[in-house]
Amino acid sequence: MSSGNAGIYHEMIVDYSRNPLNYGKMDSPDATHHDSNPLCGDSIEVHLRLDGERISDIKFDGKGCAICMACSSVLTEAAKGKTVHEARLIGKDDVLAELGLENLQAVRIKCALLSLKVLKYALYSHLAKCGGDGDADGLKEEAAGLY
Ligand SMILES: [Zn+2]
Repeated sequence: MSSGNAGIYHEMIVDYSRNPLNYGKMDSPDATHHDSNPLCGDSIEVHLRLDGERISDIKFDGKGCAICMACSSVLTEAAKGKTVHEARLIGKDDVLAELGLENLQAVRIKCALLSLKVLKYALYSHLAKCGGDGDADGLKEEAAGLY
């Protein structure tokens, strides 16, 4: 990563934090989950609308610092339109790389990955409810192990 990109990424993060994508509530979502980072004050809820196994809509709401809001925007954009199985493959590097945050300090990693953790728990609750074929296996552990 060349340092020349730092300004662009910083601008993207400020932009997303002011005008977050997919921000808002959803009426009777098919899956939802909430979690927070007490240290920073980030508190994020993710709502999923499922059309069969496809995420036809995704929204997040709550409050967060600039990094948290930017990463939630990027993550929800990435997950929208994917199947549950595709969405569960979204990893932390996918979110971090999108905003040039690969070298984020450990203390801020929670800000960046909170929404990914929440998404994985929401997918888990959906799979655990509708599954029974072992699809949810490991997803909870994956979410818990993110940071
Ligand atoms: Zn934060």
